[in-house]
Amino acid sequence: MSVDWVLNVAVLYPELLNLYGDRGNARALERRCQTRGIDANVTPVGIGDRWSPEHADIVLVGGGQDREQRRVQSDLHRRGAALREFVEDDGVVLAVCGGFQLFGQHYRGWDGEIMEGIAVFDAVAAHPGPSIRRCVGNVVAIWEGETVVGFENHGGRTYLNEGQQAFASVVSGFGNNGGDGLEGAQRKNAFGTYLHGAVLPKNPRLADRLIALALERRYGADAPALEPLDDRAALRAHAEALHAAFTPAESAIGRRFA
Ligand code: GLN
Repeated sequence: MSVDWVLNVAVLYPELLNLYGDRGNARALERRCQTRGIDANVTPVGIGDRWSPEHADIVLVGGGQDREQRRVQSDLHRRGAALREFVEDDGVVLAVCGGFQLFGQHYRGWDGEIMEGIAVFDAVAAHPGPSIRRCVGNVVAIWEGETVVGFENHGGRTYLNEGQQAFASVVSGFGNNGGDGLEGAQRKNAFGTYLHGAVLPKNPRLADRLIALALERRYGADAPALEPLDDRAALRAHAEALHAAFTPAESAIGRRFA
């Protein structure tokens, strides 16, 4: 008897929040599922679209400039209660950079104006103003004892409120704010991070964690085990990102493009 495994993956605002190829996160999940005989239905969700997280297994949101964040803010707000409910019900979320900021309590943009977030994470983000240096470069952080890698470029600094768990701890790069050594946030199965890259293609362990959590939520004890894939290319990309982060000429991005 063949069993059809299905995961519904929603990508919020892919046209607007897609810095440094964040949409690649959906591609990575799709491929890693399909290779294992799991159907991944990817649904883009734009402003005003009829969609609710009710039938979703994984929700992805990428990063964007303040301008784009402002454009999606009120639509996201309308969906806030449903998304919080989804997270409380163990729904899987990956929110990157600008998306991560809007999944927190609020983000004060570079012009000083506050954008209200949807409070999935108990965190606040603030941009110190246009004259302050942005946090740019390759990041290496430790997540559950192993490295995660990515590229960051953000002006906003995120601070986690007491009791809010971080996603990872920074080894190289700025992470949430360049000060407390913390990277991202995690609430139940919702992960927030500043890591672009896109992050999932070069961190296959994280990609598989999202898939496994979603399968477990949907199928319980009947969830299929994830067989290992040929990850040589992904691991090479991971190794190159590690190398770049620890090579000063590579990580000083300004110099590199000067
Ligand atoms: N506009 C936000 C900031 O500068 C987010 C940037 C991003 O998503 N890379 O902090």
